[in-house]
Amino acid sequence: MLIHADPLHLLQKDLQILLGHLQNKREELKFEQAHRDTILESIDDGIAVLDERDLIQYLNKKFASMFGTLSDGWNGMHISKLYNFLLDQGQVADVGKLSSVYYSVLGKRNLIADRCEIILKKEQTKYINVYTGPVSHPEKVYLGRVWKFQDVSQEKELAQMRMEFLSLASHQLRTPLTAIWGYLKMIDGGDFGDIPDKLQKPIGVLMHSTNKMRDLINDLLDVSRLESGKLVPKIERIDLGQIISDEVETQGSTAGLKSLQVELIPHGDTVLMSDASLVKEMVKNYLSNAIKYSKPNGVIVIHTSKVGKDVYRVAVKDQGIGIPADQQVHLFEKFYRADNVSTSEYEGTGLGLYFVKQCAAALGGRVGFHSQEHQGSEFWFDIPSASQSDLNIN
Ligand code: ADP
Repeated sequence: MLIHADPLHLLQKDLQILLGHLQNKREELKFEQAHRDTILESIDDGIAVLDERDLIQYLNKKFASMFGTLSDGWNGMHISKLYNFLLDQGQVADVGKLSSVYYSVLGKRNLIADRCEIILKKEQTKYINVYTGPVSHPEKVYLGRVWKFQDVSQEKELAQMRMEFLSLASHQLRTPLTAIWGYLKMIDGGDFGDIPDKLQKPIGVLMHSTNKMRDLINDLLDVSRLESGKLVPKIERIDLGQIISDEVETQGSTAGLKSLQVELIPHGDTVLMSDASLVKEMVKNYLSNAIKYSKPNGVIVIHTSKVGKDVYRVAVKDQGIGIPADQQVHLFEKFYRADNVSTSEYEGTGLGLYFVKQCAAALGGRVGFHSQEHQGSEFWFDIPSASQSDLNIN
């Protein structure tokens, strides 16, 4: 006998199965959420998670304690509310930096992580590194954005102590080193008679090593002078083209050792108001890096141009070893050296680029670069011609 299934009964069964699935999914979601919350709470950085409309989905407790708010109560609010709250608090010392990152990514879906350092003025000054990056689905669907606030005060303090120690040590070392260098030059120049053959090589090694030590100490002293604010730019009329060609001549013999060709592409107008010695240091650092990190027989091009009214750009391009992509974000940081140069073939201190950045900042300018590993790099700096009001400083 054929039994007809009751359609209502069948529907009820289907619904029960569906409900079971939904319940399972709900449990899974709850589990995922608890997982996510635990991870976000265990991180020692302030975290804000936004959805695709820039509405706040999550603030962790570290964020709340960093900025003196509650982590609950913000969910569903637009990021602008939180941003205004942070500004109203008056805790952020350099609002300009935070604003420029905030506005550069606001509403922009694909903008990759940007970062800046802000200073929080609470009972104790805190240095916070701000990062932000989009969250996207593997199929490139934009899901929102994460903001991360990392307290780097301790690292800063350590770096400061390291710098103070190095500055003190450099000052103490400079005097004896000057005497050693002076005598070595006199010996090498024959002031004490002919150098016996068997001493030629050791004296050469001594001169090379002493010279490297002088470079290191001079770099350290320059950096510490800039950082302590003792190095105030001396604004005068300078000829950028002349500074560059003088520097090319000075470093010509080093470039010659590697058979490198240095080409200049000058701009017609290169006279501006700036600090000659700081500009010279910047050119010197970029050019010496281009030489150091070039392979033999390469070409280095120094291009001078105008990139705005009274803003001059110097770009130094090489065909050298380049910088690995994952390390480029650290360039211009103090003591930073990429790991493709950490061989004895490329000696250095990791202070040159940092110094260039400080010089550019002191002159109201900025720095930048682009590079591809094994292909080469181009480093540039932009400096404005100082106005009459700047001239009155000195
Ligand atoms: P140093 O050259 O003494 O190590 P710098 O501060 O001048 O220090 O440079 C920091 C790092 O940046 C270098 O160690 C190197 O990794 C990278 N770098 C700088 N200029 C170049 C360049 N022209 N080509 C490749 N890497 C470079």
